[in-house]
Formats: sequence, structure tokens, C-alpha cells
Amino acid sequence: MKPTDFTLAGAKAALDERAISSVELTKAFVDAIEALNPRLNAYITTTPELALEQAKKADERIAAGTAGPLEGLPIAIKDLFATKGVKTTAASKILGNFVPPYESTVTSNLLRDGAVFLGKANLDEFAMGSSNGTSAFGGVENPWKRAGEPDTKLVPGGSSGGSAAAVAARLALGATATDTGGSIRQPAAFCGIAGIKPTYGRCSRWGVVAYASSLDQAGPVARTVEDCALLLGSMAGFDPKDSTSADMAVPDFAAAVVRGVKGLRIGIPKEYRIDGMPAEIEALWQTGMAMLKEAGATLVDISLPHTKYALPTYYIVAPAEASSNLARYDGVRYGLRVAEKDSDLNDLYERTRAAGFGSEVQRRIMIGTYVLSAGYYDAYYVKAQQVRALIKRDFDQAWAHCDAILTPATPSAAFAEGENADDPIAMYLNDVFTVTANLAGIPGLSVPAGLDKQGLPLGLQVLGKPFDEETVFAVGGAIERAANFTAVPSVRG
Ligand code: GLN
Repeated sequence: MKPTDFTLAGAKAALDERAISSVELTKAFVDAIEALNPRLNAYITTTPELALEQAKKADERIAAGTAGPLEGLPIAIKDLFATKGVKTTAASKILGNFVPPYESTVTSNLLRDGAVFLGKANLDEFAMGSSNGTSAFGGVENPWKRAGEPDTKLVPGGSSGGSAAAVAARLALGATATDTGGSIRQPAAFCGIAGIKPTYGRCSRWGVVAYASSLDQAGPVARTVEDCALLLGSMAGFDPKDSTSADMAVPDFAAAVVRGVKGLRIGIPKEYRIDGMPAEIEALWQTGMAMLKEAGATLVDISLPHTKYALPTYYIVAPAEASSNLARYDGVRYGLRVAEKDSDLNDLYERTRAAGFGSEVQRRIMIGTYVLSAGYYDAYYVKAQQVRALIKRDFDQAWAHCDAILTPATPSAAFAEGENADDPIAMYLNDVFTVTANLAGIPGLSVPAGLDKQGLPLGLQVLGKPFDEETVFAVGGAIERAANFTAVPSVRG
């Protein structure tokens, strides 16, 4: 077995037993990245020297018996997390040369626990997108291929497409990601790996480039549910620097993965059976239900009546918050500055923002500014906030009948590059099963559960009560054991 084939938990055990050193493990990933990243474009920036230096220190701590929980394990960092001294672009030209003088809380936590950083993973610009196609640094190729179509490039999903592709292609043991409307769960599903968006407030947002602050949440992607649990255990935790961070203890997530589902009530929301849902997605969902029943859970039909308003609500709230968050990129304080000799302040703003933001980001800023403007504020923004409260209430009421909810993760498998590219609405439909969790602030996990008839991975989604990631992990673990998903992508390091 190649070192890059280890799961994160497997590599951790191998390091513990001194079967491999962190330097050897890290070197294997550095070599794999060097060979494959020019093709996949999963990383915007790689930091091999830094990684090997961190690995050397990790080996010293392992030898000294002072290893942290993630000691010596090489991972990728979505290029939305500020990393001190390492370029952090948000996949935007406007931050193309930005080198933060500080470290985000989540990445600080990972460093504290001994993780090794291989580099910064590609994403949709400012995390806006579902295909990684809006990155100013080019798209990412999904390492999976449709059977018999080795030349068709598929997208890895988005916005955390680089994170998911890197993990699937064995260019990292795991990766950080963020999810505002599905950006952890959809790319995880498209790339045949696991990913969890924790409860809003579980991970600090401090040092994460903001997209839509009331929806943004950091979380991990990794090959297995257990690996996600290990990473989240380090990423999570109270942070006084983020006023929305929850002051709650971090449970032993990894222990929850093997807890089983006996006696759990699993809600099946009828509103997720959407018009035009492909038969394969419906079949996968049925398989998931059967697996959980077999493992001892009870299935309960539930209703989340406001589900149909989730997508339009999200696409008002998220751009509104984005338009306000992105106002800071003005060419004055940091990042790109474009001005002519005789530019006044407005001209500086206009030139900088026109040159620095890509078209999807500009579209979101325009939508956001429109829904927040006098005259439309009540009709759109206030209305969307009211509907958001109803969507959250649907879930609050559902928890009287069930302990977790099972749905498909995405309405399709990975699509080809260019597909949906000139139809923003078709692109937005990708998020139909995932945005509700962000609007309600609840945790959601995507777990690979099967292949479609073209050989592409499909994921199931488990939703849980606020701050009950443990039950979500228990259900995800049960699906993972039953599905026994062993397929591998054709392109890998
Ligand atoms: N695809 C969604 C969007 O474009 C979600 C992105 C995300 O979760 N960051 O907004």
C-alpha cells in the first residue's frame, strides 16, 4: 500500500506504531501533489518546504511522547482560511497577493494539534459556486471519470472543490472546507468522500474570509466519517474572537461514529422528493433507508413544509450578506488596487472592483445590493428572513418525531465542466438539499453511499439537531459500514 492510500485514522495509527514517519508520509504527499496537481489544479498554493519542516517537528514530538491528536498528519487548507505568512486568495484576483499577518482560529487549532499543512486548496471565488468553476485560478478537475469517458472532465463540485478533489485523489489525508449553502457536502458527494458542516457556531469563523456570515461554517472533508470526526474534534471549539462561536465543550466525535443507530428515529422528509428527481437518486435514498432500518433504526415520515422556499430564501440572504461583506475590498486597505493617475476615490473603487471580482461575485453583489436597497428591502430581505425563521421552525418541530434526518446529498452526480456554466439558476439548483441546514444552523453530513450507472459516486445526507453532531456521526458511520464504499477514482496519487 502506498502511504497516500492511508485514511487519516490509518496514518495516525501507523505513525503511533512508528511504521512510518511523518516526514516519509508528508514526502509521499508532496511528490503526489507535484505529479498530479498540474493536471487537477486542486491546490492554488503548495507549501512543500513548510510541510516537511512541520513533519520533522512532528516526528520529534512523536519520539518525545508529546504528540498531539493530529500529530504529523498532512492535510490541505481551503484557501479561504487565513494562514500566517502563506498567501490566502479566496480564489479571487482581488486577494491574489494577500499574505495574512495572522492565522485563522481553525487552522491555529489544527497546528496546535500537530497537523501538517500541504498547501491551500482551490475553491469557487469567495466560496460562491457549486462547481469550482468561478475560481480566478481556474477550475479543478474531479478525479472521478464517467465509465468509458476518460477524456470528459467532470467538476468536483463547489465551493470546496479543491479540498474535495485533493482528498479524493490522495493529495491530502483530509482538508478544511467551509459550507454556506452546501460547499462541504456537495463537493464531498461529487468526489466520493465524506464531509460535515457542523452546527453554526461549532467552529470559529475568525480568520475565515467571509461570504455570508450568518450561514458560513467551517468543517472537514476526508475519506471516511471517522476521519471527519477526528478533524472536527481539532477544528471545533469556543473562540472569544468570534461572537457567534458557541461556548460548548467539544465531544469525542470519533467515539460517536461507532455508536450505532439502534433505537434512533430517522426522519424521512417528504418535501425532499422533488419534481424531476433522477430515479438513481431516489433509489440511493431508498437504499440508505433500508441500511438504517437493518442497523436497528426506525424510519419516520416527517414534513418540513417550507422546504420549497429554501433555495430562493438562501439566494436572497446569502448575496445580501455577501454584498455587505465584500464592501471591504475597495483598493484602499489591502489586496488589489487599480487606479489611474487622476482617479478620485469612486474611480479607484470602480476600477479595483471591476478588475478584481469575477462575474459570479459581481452578480451576487448586484443581487445583494438590490435586495437590501430602500424600496425592496421589505419585499425581499425582510421577507426572506421571515421565511428563514419558518424553515428553522420546521426543523425544531421535526425533532419531536425524529433524532436525525436522511436525505440525498445532491440532486445529481458530478456534471461535466461547462455544463450549467451559463445558467446560474441551474447551478443554484445543486444546493436544493443542502441550503436548508445552513438557514436553520443545523449540522449536516454527506457520506458516499453508492455509484450511479456511469460509475460516479453519490452521497447521502444526514441532518441533525443543533450541537448534536454525535448522532449525525453515528448515523453516518452506520451508513458507511453498510454501504462499504470501496470504489476509488481513476485519477489518484
Ligand atoms: N453553491 C452555494 C453558493 O454558491 C453554496 C456555496 C457555499 O456553501 N459556500 O452560494
